[in-house]
Amino acid sequence: MQFVKNLVNKYQHFLKKERESHKELYRELAQNGQKPEVMLIGCSDSRVPLEQIFNVGPGEVFTVRNVAALVPPDDQGRTRNSTAAALEYAVEHLKVKHIVVVGHSQCGGVAACTDHLQGKTFPNQYIDSWVAVAKPGIEKALQSGAQGADLQLQTEQNTIRHSLQNLMGYDFIAGAVKTGELEIHGAYFDIEKARLFALDQEKDQFVDISYKEEPSIVNNRKFC
Ligand SMILES: [Zn+2]
Repeated sequence: MQFVKNLVNKYQHFLKKERESHKELYRELAQNGQKPEVMLIGCSDSRVPLEQIFNVGPGEVFTVRNVAALVPPDDQGRTRNSTAAALEYAVEHLKVKHIVVVGHSQCGGVAACTDHLQGKTFPNQYIDSWVAVAKPGIEKALQSGAQGADLQLQTEQNTIRHSLQNLMGYDFIAGAVKTGELEIHGAYFDIEKARLFALDQEKDQFVDISYKEEPSIVNNRKFC
């Protein structure tokens, strides 16, 4: 049988180190199920490994990763929307207390949507229709007249804002937010500097939280 050699080596390392030192935890999670308090929505980009960035282990966060970390609008289950299915499971069944949408710098998905809106077309059968979810936020950035790196930053951060708006379009999310059972948050990860910015929703600004107190939304349990 052939398998990816590098993955086999890494898995065996995990088995000897991580699993060996947390045997009890894995047993408990297997027997009692998961009760994560946080749901993370991030990009599929290999440079944004959410569990490593937030230093979380098994059972701590419920995670969805898709192209450009997008939350599509509620379509009442008319399409096969895996992100909506994950949201429903996290909020209605796991009763997570926080949903965090994590966008990032140099996002290829956001760039694809921006390029498309600027008239550049590529032969992508699936990517274009998916990243069109981000269109309203990107259009706003384009209308601002921003250029170059500033335009890129605005498109990426507006995409996060737009996903938060879409989250509130799901009745079960809006209802849980209203009763105080759920909070929604936006964050932006700068790959090169590894800095994290949290969206201050009142001021509508991304604030650098890299070297301040760790945000209370993330469980601080250490695993390694
Ligand atoms: Zn991305």
